[in-house]
Amino acid sequence: MIFLLTNDDGIGSPGLAALETEIAPLGELWVVAPERERSAVSQAISIHRPLRLHPISERRYAVDGTPVDCVYVALHHLLPRVPTVVVSGVNRGANLGTDVIYSGTVAAAREAVLRGIHGVAVSLLAGSDFRAAAAGARELVVRLARTSAAPVLLNVNVPDGEPKGARVTLLGKRHYQDEVDARTDPRGRPYFWIGGPGTRIDHIDGSDAEAVHAGFVSVTPLALDQTDHAGLVSVRALVGEG
Ligand code: MN
Repeated sequence: MIFLLTNDDGIGSPGLAALETEIAPLGELWVVAPERERSAVSQAISIHRPLRLHPISERRYAVDGTPVDCVYVALHHLLPRVPTVVVSGVNRGANLGTDVIYSGTVAAAREAVLRGIHGVAVSLLAGSDFRAAAAGARELVVRLARTSAAPVLLNVNVPDGEPKGARVTLLGKRHYQDEVDARTDPRGRPYFWIGGPGTRIDHIDGSDAEAVHAGFVSVTPLALDQTDHAGLVSVRALVGEG
């Protein structure tokens, strides 16, 4: 079996190193990750510029692109065959609720599932001890490798410290302070810094946020289908169909 790892925090990130240590004993390990941090780039793919690959060691590459670029070039060019699981992480910081829309970590795992391969995104809420999160990821990878289930996209969030266990969760809703900080650069030109800190998380039973705040690992299965099935009826009325 072969496994592909990536991490939107970059090839040098400690979360990736922790994951490599845990997953390496399971099979042939390939690591393809951005050469620098590319967090919050979501599913961005570099189809309008050249990509450069920098071999670091055997089966280990840095790419001057996005997390999705890394998975794409790995699956369609570097790897000798289809990997059993693609693991993205361990990310520094949570990917809870609506974070998954922006997350490069989740997008890299989603890219695998788009190609029919299990994708696991793993994020550590706080702190820098990535070992427990990486060990949890290994357990999931072992189980996925044993199943014949259809490809799944799993968004895993790990609380700081030793987890009490794991819970299967729904996506919650996370709120941020919406900010645009307007400043002037040293040459006298305006620039803008967008995005404020997280402010609160809605109390939703069974959500990822509830689980991690109770000390559990949250495992949220994510769907690729973005159709609003509940909205079909009202939109049919809106467009005058039927
Ligand atoms: Mn990141």
